[in-house]
Amino acid sequence: MNETSLRLVWIYPDLLSTYGDQGNALVVERRARQRRIPVTRIDVRSDQPIPTSGDIYLIGGGEDRPQRLAAERLRRDGGLNRAVANGAIVFSVCAGYQILGTEFINDLGRPEPGLGILDVKSVRNDGDRHVGDVLADMDERLGLPPLTGFENHQGNTLIGPSARPLARVRIGNGNGTGDGTEGAYCDTVFGTYMHGPVMARNPLLADMLLKLALDVHALPRVDEQWYEALRAERIAHATQAAAARS
Ligand code: GLN
Repeated sequence: MNETSLRLVWIYPDLLSTYGDQGNALVVERRARQRRIPVTRIDVRSDQPIPTSGDIYLIGGGEDRPQRLAAERLRRDGGLNRAVANGAIVFSVCAGYQILGTEFINDLGRPEPGLGILDVKSVRNDGDRHVGDVLADMDERLGLPPLTGFENHQGNTLIGPSARPLARVRIGNGNGTGDGTEGAYCDTVFGTYMHGPVMARNPLLADMLLKLALDVHALPRVDEQWYEALRAERIAHATQAAAARS
């Protein structure tokens, strides 16, 4: 972490912030402030350079065309790749997740190179769009409770040998490849298909990023009553919706 304040970088709010993904930045900021951890939030529009001195970078989802524009600009800029090479933490959602990989199919139906900082590759699913509630068990190495979110994507994502699935779906499609995986991660780079925003539904994910940034194993406890109630409600909703479909 930067000596004075944790630097939280939100990448391209003008292109990648659909389905309330900006809420992830708000939740990480709030969870830090609740622990009196000084945090500076830096919103980087797509016409601005990506700072390489950030501690945590967040990227959200987006429609197909903004996704291509974002990938082009991030490749040209190179700052996020440099930040990751220096050990930065990145948390990405949906279009952002696909951009971090090696390739995805763009709005013109052509393969578009990603940033290659996460070993995943996205292809276009020819069937129905994956839309709906997700309930997923997190990879056991992360020590987190099951996650809930909402997915809305056409792409399917294949995980390469140097990344691990972030979670396994109990409900929903996740990576959409039929293997039950959801999202992927490698070291400090994470990707998920879950909107929600996912950090509001699962603030322990925000805490995981803060712990990585601060290099600590635990953070002071905060009141989780509101979150526990939301979590129970979303799990019940996802379970009922899945039962109604089957
Ligand atoms: N455009 C991508 C897809 O449909 C990502 C969508 C999103 O970010 N919600 O797969």
